[in-house]
Amino acid sequence: MIDAQPFAPLAACNAFGVAARARLLLRLRSEDDVAEAARAHGAPRFVLGGGSNVVLTGDVDAPVFKVEIPGRRLVAETASHWIVEAGAGESWHGLVAWTLEQGWPGLENLALIPGTVGAAPVQNIGAYGIELQDHFHELDALVLDSGERFTLGAAGCAFGYRDSVFKHVPGPDARHLGLAGRALITRVRLALPKRWRPRLDYLDLQRKQAEEGVAQPSARQIFDWVCAIRRAKLPDPAVIGNAGSFFKNPSVTPEQCQDIIGRDPRLVHYPMPDGSVKLAAGWLIDACGWKGKRMGRAGVYDKQALVLVNLGGPQDPVTGGEVMTLARAIQTSVYERFGIRLEPEPVVVGRWGAVEPRQAGPGELASYAEAP
Ligand SMILES: Cc1cc2nc3c(=O)[nH]c(=O)nc-3n(C[C@H](O)[C@H](O)[C@H](O)COP(=O)(O)OP(=O)(O)OC[C@H]3O[C@@H](n4cnc5c(N)ncnc54)[C@H](O)[C@@H]3O)c2cc1C
Repeated sequence: MIDAQPFAPLAACNAFGVAARARLLLRLRSEDDVAEAARAHGAPRFVLGGGSNVVLTGDVDAPVFKVEIPGRRLVAETASHWIVEAGAGESWHGLVAWTLEQGWPGLENLALIPGTVGAAPVQNIGAYGIELQDHFHELDALVLDSGERFTLGAAGCAFGYRDSVFKHVPGPDARHLGLAGRALITRVRLALPKRWRPRLDYLDLQRKQAEEGVAQPSARQIFDWVCAIRRAKLPDPAVIGNAGSFFKNPSVTPEQCQDIIGRDPRLVHYPMPDGSVKLAAGWLIDACGWKGKRMGRAGVYDKQALVLVNLGGPQDPVTGGEVMTLARAIQTSVYERFGIRLEPEPVVVGRWGAVEPRQAGPGELASYAEAP
């Protein structure tokens, strides 16, 4: 029997702490629950995990499918990998900690990312030099309209930087498929390598290593360092509502980068293997003077300009509208000063679910070959 709650408060179900309500909140604890709910409630529906990457702009009239499928287990062991499976409703950080306890390293750099396992492939979560796709094996999902269950490998997920097929709606023809709003991920399987090597490419981690004087850190030590760095840098959503990095780091050509450096030599940028250059969105925002500023009850975190925060009190929380007004003001000033359009990372949710998921463009998601 599905746990269904009418007019459910969502304040505790989104990391910004926006005080919206769901007309109907359905807590789905198994694949059968998902199939039953999908049969009973046609489109539009909104799939919710832990709510750590959404901006609710008001009450949600579409039925909210809250994914709470549990379970963690080792499903296979090959000569080179442990294959670990987790239910979509499991906590991502809990899974990272559990794999380390079992002696299966690999996910330590992704420690303390809030949210559920099922949402991790949606934006191909990443931190400290690793992305989900580096250890992804496959996932199980269900097409909400037909109830069809399917399994998707990495190629089918078309992972990109904070991107996947689950963030796009279908494009103009059969080559441009998207699964945003159409599929619900029920289980995720990860491949953790038996020949583990530490990933210490990030400066913050190298600094920690030098501070601690450890030449050969264990996965557990890296896990602890990542947790300590994140706690020092990012606000805890339980204390100050936020959705982590609010904008993606934009990618530009080397020429565009040189043009900006000509105007501002302090620009923080990283050359990428594909020849493009990634710019630090937080630096661009800071350079426009936004750090610590506020508009209404929405603010820019004073320690990290990439994070927008809820400055309202528990009785008077920020609204999604205030967050988006601040976000648009930041986008405008970054565009006017640097000619760069910042793209928000969180999913903006309106009455009927996600607002403006991007259509798959020509050439995009080209590897998407296993669509149901
Ligand atoms: C303090 C903080 C720090 C963060 N740091 C990082 C970071 O370092 N790296 C990073 O990548 N992200 C980061 N994030 C963003 C967030 O943690 C991730 O995007 C996370 O994967 C979201 O999980 P969730 O369960 O909360 O998803 P939700 O916010 O509930 O949903 C996000 C999107 O995924 C969809 N979705 C959720 N579950 C499913 C499912 N089972 N099937 C299909 N679609 C689904 C939703 O419809 C929505 O479109 C951070 C957020 C916060 C608040």
